[in-house]
Amino acid sequence: MQNGIENKITNIKFYNCGYCMNDLKRMYKEIKKHEKMIFQARVMLIEHKTYGKILVDTGYSHRIYENGLTSKLYHLINPTTYRKKDHILYQLRKDGIKHNDISMIILTHLHPDHIGGLGDMKNTKIIMSHKCRERITGARYKELVFPNQIGKSMENQIIPVHVNHKSPLKDFNGMDLLGDGSVWLMDLEGHAYGQIGVYIPEKKIFYVADAVWGINYLKYRLRLIPRLIQNDYNAYVKTVKKLSALKGVAIISTHGEEVYKDAQKI
Ligand SMILES: [Zn+2]
Repeated sequence: MQNGIENKITNIKFYNCGYCMNDLKRMYKEIKKHEKMIFQARVMLIEHKTYGKILVDTGYSHRIYENGLTSKLYHLINPTTYRKKDHILYQLRKDGIKHNDISMIILTHLHPDHIGGLGDMKNTKIIMSHKCRERITGARYKELVFPNQIGKSMENQIIPVHVNHKSPLKDFNGMDLLGDGSVWLMDLEGHAYGQIGVYIPEKKIFYVADAVWGINYLKYRLRLIPRLIQNDYNAYVKTVKKLSALKGVAIISTHGEEVYKDAQKI
């Protein structure tokens, strides 16, 4: 552990905020039998001694059903389950945390299972990569960015950042979010334009969002359709290779079940 980064993070917790179902055989070449997997929309809560409660992504919300035909298509390809009790704010309230207790939200990327709760968090600062910021106005449905999930009024809350600096993980560029080395935003190009992850050196946790859909699949090859969903497949492969080579770091994805269990041990 580097000097000065100890004991800045007082707690880390994960919440599952809705889910969709996928057939692993349709996703990975190595899987020969139909096997349904629940893709939880996982959200990470970081508690920092000075900066308070920082939320990473916001899961699904009722808005996933409110995009007309696009919602219907999304649901058809990606059967989605969201109930009121899955909302991140509902779950936080049960832990005694109110919306105003959240000091900032980090958005890894703009897919609907990551930004669903955003519309209910007026006034909270939203950190995202410059590239994601660009995509809000130029968003295309092809990229799975649904404009109704980020209201016009939210644009004032957004703080875009560049993640092109040297980071503690030598193969990855990043940005020291708080300036104290405790929370790093990491460049994870490939899956979605401008996707970032969050690395917490003190806990040796690397939340990689959808850079991979679970650590069990780091070595698996995507089939054609899931490949087409990636924003840049070559960049996706490069990122996954770099993640596979990491030693001594717990990789936690948004969707991987086994990863979630590991994370609970922290
Ligand atoms: Zn995604």
